[in-house]
Amino acid sequence: MDVRNGLVGSVGNTPLVKLEWPSRVTGRTILGKAEFMNPGGSVKDRAALALIRDAEARGVLKPGGTIVEGTAGNTGIGLAVVGNALGYKTIIVMPETQSQEKKDTLRLLGVDLRLVPAVPFKDPGNYVHVSRRIAEETGAFWANQFDNTANRDGHYATTGQEIWTQTDGRVTAFTCATGTGGTLAGVARALKEKNPDVRIVLADPMGSALFSWKKLGELKAEGTSITEGIGQGRVTRNLEDAPLDDAVQIPDEEALEVVFSLVKNEGLVLGGSSGINVAAAMRVARELPEDAVVVTILCDGGQRYQSKLFNPEFLRAKGLPTPPWMD
Ligand code: PMP
Repeated sequence: MDVRNGLVGSVGNTPLVKLEWPSRVTGRTILGKAEFMNPGGSVKDRAALALIRDAEARGVLKPGGTIVEGTAGNTGIGLAVVGNALGYKTIIVMPETQSQEKKDTLRLLGVDLRLVPAVPFKDPGNYVHVSRRIAEETGAFWANQFDNTANRDGHYATTGQEIWTQTDGRVTAFTCATGTGGTLAGVARALKEKNPDVRIVLADPMGSALFSWKKLGELKAEGTSITEGIGQGRVTRNLEDAPLDDAVQIPDEEALEVVFSLVKNEGLVLGGSSGINVAAAMRVARELPEDAVVVTILCDGGQRYQSKLFNPEFLRAKGLPTPPWMD
């Protein structure tokens, strides 16, 4: 029988989809890895599974144990989906600014959800530090997705190999935004190992310090972004040795135009980080020869942000473009 082994066996092996509109307008082949098709609805299911399997192997997560994590939401959803399937409890700490849809999903999965004010990493009240302290106080396992390199290794072993195999080794460039850096670093290492000429480009939203880190060697952030789950003010352990060739910075206006075009032109409803990724793929593609094959990550679906990305009132208040058909 062609059957996947439970929800855990359904993580990964996602389709690689030719994006028709971006390919047509750039005259290059642009492919998106459909990570929104994972059981928890995002690329972070892979990290969740990798972090759990690594903790089990190291003996720091025991049967019936509890997992604690600080997350913009998707890792929490991934940990809850996989955790429920494997019999673990989850305590999730999340900045209160994240979308209502992600909070609702975490609650329906039965996680112990703790919302905290959105404050910078240097503040002890930051969601990452709060989650670490809860783990220390309760003896639970702290997944530590930002600095636990089992995250990156999971993407090296799965996402990166899948992209290489699915393109028959014809991938010429890869673009990806970064939250923890796990996806970008793991895929980058896998592809560079197969072919050092594959061009790896970090896609950064406004308000993140990584674009200037790559371009100028200093962490400096300017502007803001409504995208969730991406953008970073520091170099995480997952990101630190990633073989990056370049970085591009994508304003929300450009990412939203891409998100809206993908809805209208191919019925693909994606979240904001996917908009950043595809916009970056289009910019990179235009600088490459016509036979270029540019791959990017479709991190999660737009339904997860309906109250923001597809809410004209919210967008207008921020001075951002609205979906033309919703005006
Ligand atoms: N997009 C979304 C929607 C996310 O939630 C995340 C993870 N926070 C990312 C992209 C970035 O993935 P990574 O943590 O592997 O850098």
